[in-house]
Amino acid sequence: MQRPLVVQKFGGSSVANADRIRRVARRIGRERAAGSDLVVVVSAMGDTTDELLTLAHAITDEPDARELDMLLATGEHQSATLLSMALHALGVEAISLTGPQAGITTDGRYGRARIANIEPRRIRAEIEKGNVVIVAGFQGQSETAADQAEMTTLGRGGSDTTAVALAAALKADRCQIFTDVKGIYTADPRVVPDARQLPVIGYEEMLELAHQGAQVMQVRAVELGWVNDVVIEVLSSFEDAPGTLIREDPLVEQRNKVRGLAHDRNVAKVTLVAVPDRPGVARSVFEPLAEAGINVDMIVQNVGHGGATDMSFTVPRAELGKAKKVLEAVVRDLGAREITTDASVAKVSIVGAGLHNAPGYAARMFGTLADAGVNIEMISTSEVRITCMIAEDELSTALSALHGAFELAKPDAIDVAATGMAAG
Ligand code: ASP
Ligand code: MG
Repeated sequence: MQRPLVVQKFGGSSVANADRIRRVARRIGRERAAGSDLVVVVSAMGDTTDELLTLAHAITDEPDARELDMLLATGEHQSATLLSMALHALGVEAISLTGPQAGITTDGRYGRARIANIEPRRIRAEIEKGNVVIVAGFQGQSETAADQAEMTTLGRGGSDTTAVALAAALKADRCQIFTDVKGIYTADPRVVPDARQLPVIGYEEMLELAHQGAQVMQVRAVELGWVNDVVIEVLSSFEDAPGTLIREDPLVEQRNKVRGLAHDRNVAKVTLVAVPDRPGVARSVFEPLAEAGINVDMIVQNVGHGGATDMSFTVPRAELGKAKKVLEAVVRDLGAREITTDASVAKVSIVGAGLHNAPGYAARMFGTLADAGVNIEMISTSEVRITCMIAEDELSTALSALHGAFELAKPDAIDVAATGMAAG
């Protein structure tokens, strides 16, 4: 019989120091002893990536993109080698590989490269030799002639993508993402005390949660899992407890239920006051923002009065300064009255597959917020999500009220069925 192949990923907090690396090695050793072949993806230790970025910016305001990727990649080299040594110390055969050695090629966009191909020959050969293969996450090699290939990195949180991509390429039996939380919750347990861990969640719902600020997994990794049908398990590296399975949810059609709440404080509201109401205005506003790489969300344009209209939208809070600079020129060109901004807002979302064909959820959400005395400033929706923008200092009130109104603390039949499936 073939041995099961398991891909495991350990995030930065799981390998933050020597003790934790040894603990991860013991866990890998146990899985190995149970008879699995293992490919292990690691992130850089603790805050290493942030520290390397800070260092680079202490040297120069504009670090060269190529050199920056060379630098950032060292974070994962460090953790991969140390984990391999920790396994050796336990008598477990292991070898560390860089992304390029693991056969991961990408396009050439430094800092946000996308995986183009994985040729896992070397990984397979090392498994064949009896090694646990440790792969440095978050990196690859640009897909060019060998004598010009460059180190690239996959964007912040990119080790998740490395792990899911390897699981797909190797047709792994399991893909486990070990992190510092126990799994995916109905809401952030730090804000909503009776938030409940979900045994299973569909890809689509997980994508919305990740987009809306649930910082558990990189969005691209979830997308990649969905496209390649990789069942992803998110679980704690600090305790032995079942996690949350992210998978195609076969029961999705049978339920119209809110699955979880997401929130995001990383937003700011921008209003352009008295913009001329004529064709092409939206383009003059949003094109320059797009060119500056600023993501715009939740756009609202009021009904025009006397040839002018107000236009509001949200941008990531960290980009507010940059957005203002871009928009000041736009306001001048268009002859709008002024720009106002508000950085003390937050988004709260209800997420669940099937929300769009179940009327009443929007009304219940708005009613619940009203009863809690929370004012809604903007609304946006997707197939599986309804989002309201509110004042940031009302966020925890809003989350608790919604968690209660949609009865999220209580497991339902779907969770029970899902748990049964997960065990099977
Ligand atoms: N070390 C990288 C980061 O901090 C990649 C990762 O953690 O997944 O973004
Ligand atoms: Mg990370």
